[in-house]
Amino acid sequence: MAILDFDVHHGNGTQDVFYERGDVFFTSLHQWPHYPGTGASGDIGRGEGEGSNLNFPLPGGTDEATWFACFEKALESIREFDPDFVLISSGFDSHRNDPLGDFPLNEESFARISKDLVALSEGKGMVSFLEGGYNLEALSGSVNSYLQAQL
Ligand SMILES: [Zn+2]
Repeated sequence: MAILDFDVHHGNGTQDVFYERGDVFFTSLHQWPHYPGTGASGDIGRGEGEGSNLNFPLPGGTDEATWFACFEKALESIREFDPDFVLISSGFDSHRNDPLGDFPLNEESFARISKDLVALSEGKGMVSFLEGGYNLEALSGSVNSYLQAQL
């Protein structure tokens, strides 16, 4: 199983749970430095989990091209891991108008992410979990865009 987290905050709890597991790959793109303060690029897992944890700490104000370049690296790493199932921590607080973060995404970005994830999970199972999103207008538009792109 692989877990991809695109919430603006690091998936600290998820990382903790699977940090020593070699059968679960976890990757997170998140603003850095930022709450909760975890998610350094040197956190690669421990013991049997070494190499199955991949963080992309990105500064606030990161541009969209840089964000997507990292996202593509995350997808490539998941492809190499070759999981049978993919879980998505779908945090829409990566939207550019979210009050709790400073990431560059918008509704169209989430459609692109969604299409890439559908392609990634072809032949596998995929479940998306709704996580952050604190500008309700941006959240509703982004979730709609994300879901419509999967139809
Ligand atoms: Zn968040």
